[in-house]
Amino acid sequence: MNFELTKEQEMTRKMVRDFAEDVIQPRAIDIDVNADFPDDIFKEMGKLGLLGIPFPEEYGGAGGDTVTYALAVEEIGRICGSTGLSYAAAVSLGASPIYYFGTEEQKQEFLVPLAKGEGLASFGLTEPNAGSDAGGTQTRAVLDGDEYVINGEKSWITNAGYARSITVTAVSGKRDDGKNIISAFIVPADTPGLTINSNYDKMGVRGSNTSEIILEDVRVPKENILGDPKKGFGQFLYTLDGGRISIAALAVGVAQASLDRALAYAKERKQFGQPISNFQAIQFKLADMAMEVELARNITMKAAWLKDQGKPFTKESAYAKLFASETAFRSANQAIQIHGGYGYMREYEVERYLRDAKLLEIGEGTSEIQRLVIARQLGC
Ligand SMILES: Cc1cc2nc3c(=O)[nH]c(=O)nc-3n(C[C@H](O)[C@H](O)[C@H](O)COP(=O)(O)OP(=O)(O)OC[C@H]3O[C@@H](n4cnc5c(N)ncnc54)[C@H](O)[C@@H]3O)c2cc1C
Repeated sequence: MNFELTKEQEMTRKMVRDFAEDVIQPRAIDIDVNADFPDDIFKEMGKLGLLGIPFPEEYGGAGGDTVTYALAVEEIGRICGSTGLSYAAAVSLGASPIYYFGTEEQKQEFLVPLAKGEGLASFGLTEPNAGSDAGGTQTRAVLDGDEYVINGEKSWITNAGYARSITVTAVSGKRDDGKNIISAFIVPADTPGLTINSNYDKMGVRGSNTSEIILEDVRVPKENILGDPKKGFGQFLYTLDGGRISIAALAVGVAQASLDRALAYAKERKQFGQPISNFQAIQFKLADMAMEVELARNITMKAAWLKDQGKPFTKESAYAKLFASETAFRSANQAIQIHGGYGYMREYEVERYLRDAKLLEIGEGTSEIQRLVIARQLGC
């Protein structure tokens, strides 16, 4: 693995960093406090080509790779976890499955506008009674003539309130062994029978849109089935493997922000006549944070690089998601501790990092599920 970034990767990182610092940073506190989805910022990101980084130019993308995309997610996550989560979900969950598994017609109709940043898409897997056990999907799709009729409910779907299309999973039949066949369907957001409610009051990533979806006799043409109808389950496992790299990158961003804030504050804050950074107790916290951020970034980049090389990356993306999300939570917690009482106040932002980091240990597979994935890769 070559640890040196290419010129293009460095340029994209710098461009995204500048954008995040100039455009997102001044809004980050308001986005969180008001749970305000930054629709206008996403339009700007679309114009800059950020929503199409890992997709080929022929589909409206920038022709970049997963490493470049992960760098972009980290830079946005360093400034605003809400924007970072919606960005990661739009690309990894909304657009990527259509790129991986879609027919040429589906790519032209649904992927091209997403990659060009003309809209967002969502991925609806989780249900009220099917979370970690996604195989327990209860949503049903029944073929009726040339259309599938879909009925069911999806919970906590990122960006659905602003999506132009939502890919939902549903049981479409039974295998010979009696197990359910789960397929994925692309549902345009304006399809009759689809109700999207964005009423959740969240602890963190408050400016990321999270919605409940109710599907009542939603009809889509049978051409809207995504990829091989019998391989829907395997397709979303692959999609989640890729998505975990972006959640890891987002976590690295939050962890880096926690370290940056804590270090700057420790050098500035004086107690007992000297900066608190002179105290070994504070230095050791900062040393641990710096080491963990570096390790989290390295494994995230390795997982991204493996994906770009077309090599297996399931284990490494689970390592990255697990280690980086837990690092983000620990780093944010230590950043609050280093800030003392000020850290408990919103204007210092580190309390937001902690609330945002917590989601990263839950979404796209909890820490427990990452450990299960790793154990399976070990042959357990
Ligand atoms: C803000 C937000 C955004 C989200 N965005 C999306 C999205 O865009 N699309 C989407 O489809 N979903 C989304 N989700 C859902 C998310 O992926 C699920 O919350 C997550 O997979 C966990 O499922 P659950 O909440 O039902 O928890 P459960 O599966 O009920 O788990 C509860 C607890 O039990 C543990 N547990 C469960 N099974 C096992 C096991 N076999 N072994 C050990 N421990 C286990 C879990 O780790 C957890 O600690 C989002 C969630 C949130 C909060």
